[in-house]
Amino acid sequence: MKTLVLITLAIILLTTSCVGRTEAKSFSTTDKTVATYTGPIIDMHVHAYSRQTPMFGLENYNPLTRQTYIGSESLQKHQEETFKKFKKHNIVRAMVANGSAWHKLDSSLVIIGEGHYNSIDELKQKHKNGKLQVLGEVAPNYQGLLPTDKSLTPYFDLANELEIPIGFHLYPGGPPGGAYFAYPKTRAFQGKPLQLEEILFSRPKMKLYVMHAGWPFLEDMKALMYAHPQVYVDLGVICWGIPRVEFHNFLEGLVDAGFGDRIMFGSDQMVWVNTIDEGIEAVNSAAFLSMQQKEDIFYNNAARFLGLTKAQIKRDKEL
Ligand SMILES: [Zn+2]
Repeated sequence: MKTLVLITLAIILLTTSCVGRTEAKSFSTTDKTVATYTGPIIDMHVHAYSRQTPMFGLENYNPLTRQTYIGSESLQKHQEETFKKFKKHNIVRAMVANGSAWHKLDSSLVIIGEGHYNSIDELKQKHKNGKLQVLGEVAPNYQGLLPTDKSLTPYFDLANELEIPIGFHLYPGGPPGGAYFAYPKTRAFQGKPLQLEEILFSRPKMKLYVMHAGWPFLEDMKALMYAHPQVYVDLGVICWGIPRVEFHNFLEGLVDAGFGDRIMFGSDQMVWVNTIDEGIEAVNSAAFLSMQQKEDIFYNNAARFLGLTKAQIKRDKEL
C-alpha cells in the first residue's frame, strides 16, 4: 500500500514536475525575418503514463505566461495526441519517461526513460529486457532530496555502469509557488546545478544531462558546463513554461557562453500536448540563433549525446 502510494505520488510529481499547460490556443507567430527549422527533431523530454493521472483533462493556468492549457482526456487520447504532434513536427526520436508502452507502438521513435521511483534491481532487469535506455526523469527534488543525498548514489552508479544517459531534474518543479499547495518538500535552493560537481567528477564517463537546463541558475549552469564538458542540457518546460523573453535570455546566455553544441531540445510534454508546438516555436523564434545552431539544438547535439550511428542519423534525416 505504502509502495502504491509512493508510486502514485511519484507519478504525479514527475508529471507535474514539469508543470502544467495545454491547448495551444495561440502562440506568437514566428517573426517573418526569423527562419524556421524544418528538419528532424529529437525531443529529449516527454512523459507518458501508465494509469489515469489527475492531470488528464485538467485546466491549468500559468500566471507567468498567462496562458491556460487543458490536459488530454485520457491515457489513450494522450498517446494519440502526442504521436500526432511527433508526426506534425518531424520528431523522429523522443525520450519518453515511462515510455515502455509507447515503445511498443514505435520502437525506433521512442527511447524509454525510467526514473528513480524504480529500484536498482528493477532498472537492471528492464535494461536487460531492452526496456531502459535513459535513466530519467530523475527528480528527487519532489521528495526534498538534494542530488548529493546518499540514496541517489546507486542511481548515478547505475547510469555509469550501464553506460546510459541520465536525465536529472533540478529546477523548476511544479507550478509557480507549488511548494505551498502541491509539493511541500520542494525548495528552490535544492535546484542549484553546482551540487552535481563531485558526482560528475567521480564518474567522468557518465552521460548526464540537466533537464530544464538548470533554469533559473544561469551562472551556475555556465560554471558547471565549463568545468564539466560532458554535461548537456535540455530545454524542457522552460521553452513554454516561462515568458518567452526570459527563455530567450536564458538560452542566449548559454549559447553566448559557448555551449550551443550541448543544448538539446526537450518539450517536457506532460498531458498538455500543445506545449510541443510552443516549445518548438520558442526555439525557432530566437532571432539570435543561426539555422546551424537551431539544427544543433533540435537534432545534432542529441544525436551525438545519444551516440546515434551514422546510419541512424542518415535514416532520421531522410524521414
Ligand atoms: Zn519532465
